[in-house]
Amino acid sequence: MAIPSLVVTPKTAVAAASFLAILLLEGWRPLFPLKKDRWHHLARNATITVIASVVVYLLFSSVKLLVEAQVRANGWGLLGMIPLTGLLRTTVVVVLFDAWMYLWHRMNHRIRILWRFHRIHHTDDAMDVSTAWRFHPGELVLSAAAGLFIIALFGLTLQDLLVYETLMLPVIYLHHSDFYLPGRVDRLLRTVLVTPWMHWVHHSNKGRELNSNYGSILSVWDRIGGSFRLRDDPDAIVYGVKGFEDEGWQTVVGMLRTPLA
Ligand SMILES: [Zn+2]
Ligand SMILES: [Zn+2]
Repeated sequence: MAIPSLVVTPKTAVAAASFLAILLLEGWRPLFPLKKDRWHHLARNATITVIASVVVYLLFSSVKLLVEAQVRANGWGLLGMIPLTGLLRTTVVVVLFDAWMYLWHRMNHRIRILWRFHRIHHTDDAMDVSTAWRFHPGELVLSAAAGLFIIALFGLTLQDLLVYETLMLPVIYLHHSDFYLPGRVDRLLRTVLVTPWMHWVHHSNKGRELNSNYGSILSVWDRIGGSFRLRDDPDAIVYGVKGFEDEGWQTVVGMLRTPLA
């Protein structure tokens, strides 16, 4: 089994810097100024992400290396057929993997067993940057298992995945944030990226809004897939999932139990 590196990688540096910057922006200009204790909320979401990350690491770190080695040795995958290098390869990888993330997220809303795990991301009734961490270990295990097939199908390397994740983290931190990004700035950003004004709608407790805006980095997939939706009154959105309003679902034990409800 690979030993976790304690060295600060570009991915962890980008993730930490963007998370802290957004935390400051949320304190300066929040969409919901009266939200409940943000530090308590952050601590709960941090706990669930640590639990989920440890489970995924223990189950998948070695398997991922083995699958990648097989992909390289056998020349598997679509990208193995086209000689791409440098920025062109990075662009193709980001576009392909982001399309997969859109489809996977959409499946998480449509397939009952996947939704049972995914819904803890949506039961958060006080969304902010830390909601980007709030995933059930079961969802991340299923996502990592499906990801192994995608690695083989596209012929991805672990370096490709690292580049994608390094680009994705600041975008998902921003679009979960409680920072009230001015509408005109959001409009400009969402010509390319998934933005807060889009993702706030995705966390609404209204079914039609919940089942929209599935994108991770690029906004184009929701436009193509007919799932792009906006509201001009984001401060009137009620976050959460109907039936999970009880405070007990916000605790770490409550989050872990949510798939069984
Ligand atoms: Zn979702
Ligand atoms: Zn979200």
